Amino acid sequence: MATSSGGGSGSGGGGTYSYRNGATHSHKSSSKLDTHTHKPLSLNSSSNSSSKNHVKSKSLGPSSTTQRRNSTTSKDHHPSVPGRVRVAVRLRPRNAEESVADADFADCVELQPELKRLKLRKNNWDADTYAFDEVLTEFASQKRVYEVVARPVVESVLDGYNGTIMAYGQTGTGKTYTLGRLGEEDTAARGIMVRSMEDILADVSLETDSVSVSYLQLYMESIQDLLDPANDNITIVEDPRTGDVSLPGASLVEIRDQQSFVELLRLGEVHRFAANTKLNTESSRSHAILMVHVRRSIKGRDAGHSSENGNHPHSVKSLKPPVVRKGKLVVVDLAGSERIDKSGSEGHTLEEAKSINLSLSALGKCINALAENSAHVPFRDSKLTRLLRDSFGGTARTSLVITIGPSPKHRGETASTIMFGQRAMKVENMVKLKEEFDYKSLARKLDVELDKLIMEHERQQKAFEDEIERMATEAQHRLSEAERNYIDLLEKEKSKYEKDYMDSIRKLEDQLAMNQRKNEDSHIKSRAEKETLLRKAAEGEVNHLKIQVSELKMSEASRKSEILKVHKMLEEEVHQKEKLEREIAILQSQLLQLSLESDQTRHQFERDGLEKDVSSVDSLTSQVKHQQQASGNGEKPSIAKLFEQVGLQKILSLLEAEDADVRIHAVKVVANLAAEEANQGKIVEAGGLTSLLRLLQSSQDETIHRVAAGAIANLAMNETNQELIMSQGGISLLSMTAASAEDPQTLRMVAGAIANLCGNDKLQSKLRGEGGIKALLGMVRCRHPDVHAQVARGIANFAKCESRASSLGTKSARSFLIEDGALAWIVQNANNEASSIRRHIELALCHLAQHETNARDMINGGALWELVRISRDCSREDIKTLAHRTLVSSPTFQAEMRRMRISY
Ligand code: ADP
Ligand code: MG
Repeated sequence: MATSSGGGSGSGGGGTYSYRNGATHSHKSSSKLDTHTHKPLSLNSSSNSSSKNHVKSKSLGPSSTTQRRNSTTSKDHHPSVPGRVRVAVRLRPRNAEESVADADFADCVELQPELKRLKLRKNNWDADTYAFDEVLTEFASQKRVYEVVARPVVESVLDGYNGTIMAYGQTGTGKTYTLGRLGEEDTAARGIMVRSMEDILADVSLETDSVSVSYLQLYMESIQDLLDPANDNITIVEDPRTGDVSLPGASLVEIRDQQSFVELLRLGEVHRFAANTKLNTESSRSHAILMVHVRRSIKGRDAGHSSENGNHPHSVKSLKPPVVRKGKLVVVDLAGSERIDKSGSEGHTLEEAKSINLSLSALGKCINALAENSAHVPFRDSKLTRLLRDSFGGTARTSLVITIGPSPKHRGETASTIMFGQRAMKVENMVKLKEEFDYKSLARKLDVELDKLIMEHERQQKAFEDEIERMATEAQHRLSEAERNYIDLLEKEKSKYEKDYMDSIRKLEDQLAMNQRKNEDSHIKSRAEKETLLRKAAEGEVNHLKIQVSELKMSEASRKSEILKVHKMLEEEVHQKEKLEREIAILQSQLLQLSLESDQTRHQFERDGLEKDVSSVDSLTSQVKHQQQASGNGEKPSIAKLFEQVGLQKILSLLEAEDADVRIHAVKVVANLAAEEANQGKIVEAGGLTSLLRLLQSSQDETIHRVAAGAIANLAMNETNQELIMSQGGISLLSMTAASAEDPQTLRMVAGAIANLCGNDKLQSKLRGEGGIKALLGMVRCRHPDVHAQVARGIANFAKCESRASSLGTKSARSFLIEDGALAWIVQNANNEASSIRRHIELALCHLAQHETNARDMINGGALWELVRISRDCSREDIKTLAHRTLVSSPTFQAEMRRMRISY
């Protein structure tokens, strides 16, 4: 039982393949591994790393596990995740010699790739077990080895980190095979250098990025340029500020394509061989170092993760600062790890031998110091350790592949190689497991199968790509041939069409010439025809002008008649205007009348006396109301205003107007004016009364009679006017009207007028003489109480005047009323229901009874009984008293009452 020991101190390594969270590390040992990866390093891996070259491996073996881990850790990437040197072990298959020599012996190692373990046999029954980050069997393909060992490092270099890939192992175990195979004869055999460059070139943009390489050999602490053999003993320059190591003397060749890189590697190989021949040594004694400088321009978006190797210490402050990322990949094919003193056959002195192995032993010491976490790491002890200072304990991501052979003969060297690897992993206390797993052989078989398939696939892919290229070239050929044919054809077509075109042009020209000749012939003929046509046109023009002249004449005549018409129309207009003016005057008079009538009505209402109550004017009330309603005109100008506007003279003149309507309206206006006492004098002065009387005579119109009579009745309230009426034959005119009228209102007006005249003492006999009483009594034929009331008033007025005259002694004869036969009607109506009639009759009876001469007739006419009744029953006390006094003072009535035995 042995426990593997290994350095755990923080050698620089990429966080990308930190196995701390590795899914397959489920057993105890893995956690122990992790506890020793404690030295935090600032080496970053970027999750932005190009993923286009990630192999989407579907294999079940360790490589798929690796892929999974890589992607997981990429995602979990953090700027300051510590990494450690990652170590893979690769077993070379038995070579022909070994197959024969060791035929009967088992290999000194047994690999458990699925557990990532290696068993190193001590003897037939005992073995030590070691854990590695990757365990690559003798069947592992070059492609898988690249992906497991190198790709994560290459990707971080592309992201701007330094990376180291290193092979360590005994001479002949496959270091150069793993790193340096060019694979020109077999694509599947290509080594890590070639594949790394392929990935780098595929990821960079040659417009903005640059890739350049140096290829060096380190032998006996001397650095030689493999690209320029004359250039040896190149010095190492360290930047004291950043600690950066550079080789300014080494050739730096820019790489733009894979082919030139392979060419360069081959050249380097040739130079290395030549140099070693010259130095009388083997290439296995020297270290070959390939340095790839990748310089990339990064757009603003990626600038956040600048490298921490001091090249770009500033963080990005502006939005898109130009950022350059410099990654350096160092691939080191170390000299054989076997002890030089062991072989000792090369003829070197011990000192020489020490010098030959100085760098390698210094590397071992540094690894040990780092693994043990020593305070001092002797980097400065050798050129190799100076050059690789960044690779171990620095900022680089480092991947180490240790190569071993299967032969039990070299068990010691193999063991020391394994221990180197273990230290590099910094692993200690590796638990040695005794148990075996049943599926191990199956897993191994599957692994072998898988690797075969991978190789086959790669070969086929290459063949397929070649075929594609061949087909593309052929297609290109065919295309260009088809194009040529097409152009030829096109050319032929074109020339044919051109010929046809020229032919048709020629034909057309011939035809044109012929047509021109024909046209010249026909030209002469057509001239005569043209003149004839012109003449005809001129004649037509003349005719047309003649027609126009006659039309003009006609239109002149019609215009004259039109002027005459217009004249006539104008005259008519003048007539119309005059007529309208007249109508306006009528309308104005109507308006005036209406306003007067309304005024009158108002007055009528205001008056409360008996006399006024029965005055002829009140008869107009209904008419006024009626007309007001009809006109619908609520607003009336004042009488005075209308008077001024129109002028009394003009109104009176209209009484004689030809138009009946005008006369009617005029008479209404005058009647209304006459209702106003203030106007009466003016009307009479202006001859209004005469005109009104004349109207009674001249007009046959009932309305005119009615209204004129009304006006006369109003004027007849004045004593002077009463005389005037009488002197102008008014009574006979009123009598005539009374005789002919049918309308009760007309009769009422006439009766009113006569009644007024009856009240004039001076006119008694003239009135009676001209038939006034008879006319008055004649009107009772109309049964209308208004007429009767006026008649009664007239009788009362007349009786009063007579009684006054008799009391003055100017009249002694019998009453004209009795003489004209009024007594019968008086007695008849003495007790009339209508008070307006009854009162006047009662008064009339009292007045008649004043005169003793009338008594006998009154007794005979039955008036005594009425007087008795009045003296007893009359509601008006004054009339009652008058009747009583009259009865008492009259001897005739007294005698009669006694005779009749009326006690009084
Ligand atoms: P080193 O560089 O470690 O001295 P080489 O790479 O020169 O070893 O390998 C020694 C021999 O073994 C070479 O002929 C090489 O082709 C062969 N060899 C090494 N590794 C393998 C391998 N994995 N598969 C097949 N042949 C190998
Ligand atoms: Mg070699």
